[in-house]
Amino acid sequence: MTRILLVEDETAIADAVLYALRAEGYDTRHSLLGLNALEQLRSGDYGLVVLDVGLPDITGFDVCRELRTFSTIPVIFLTARDGEFDRVLGLELGADDYMAKPFSPRELVARVRARLRRSQVAESAWRETGRFRHDPAGQRIQYDHAELMLTRYEYRLLAALLARPGAIFSRERLMDDIWRDANDTDDRTVDTHIKTLRAKLRGIDAATDPIQTHRGLGYSLKA
Ligand code: CA
Repeated sequence: MTRILLVEDETAIADAVLYALRAEGYDTRHSLLGLNALEQLRSGDYGLVVLDVGLPDITGFDVCRELRTFSTIPVIFLTARDGEFDRVLGLELGADDYMAKPFSPRELVARVRARLRRSQVAESAWRETGRFRHDPAGQRIQYDHAELMLTRYEYRLLAALLARPGAIFSRERLMDDIWRDANDTDDRTVDTHIKTLRAKLRGIDAATDPIQTHRGLGYSLKA
């Protein structure tokens, strides 16, 4: 899927970018506002977002943070000045790349092409495990062919279980493997995430629970 959403409130920049992307054959839509962009992105029809940081309603960072709760598509930020962009924040939010204004639209097109190529390679790398399909490169998991909208830790948790169906993972081991870089965890972190994960799986099939609880031992994925 190569439809691109450009979120940019400065019309001169937007026009130049739209022209460059469309000249390359990319079906490119344009949004001036962050909230409207999120609404469009929820449709799932887009393969990449070019996202201005300074928008009139909410910031590009806010858009990215919200986007990451339901999508893993590549995000390229546009930022006013090189020094302004907070790389760490951008990366934490799941940005794939950024360009400082003024930039060459041709350079942007080159980066868009590179990102799309990467996500298309990832597209073909699905591993099937029972009713699950896992794309490790794209960090996506499908259940009965429906894409699960997972948070970072839900994803890591399910990916760990999927790696060895039937194997029991203790809470301690899951904490060590998955939350090693987190600092706001407590005794209930694993259980809480199992709960939200189960709720998402139930949203697709309410009748079965593929995650098994082993009292005093931990969790496994039913083999
Ligand atoms: Ca702006």
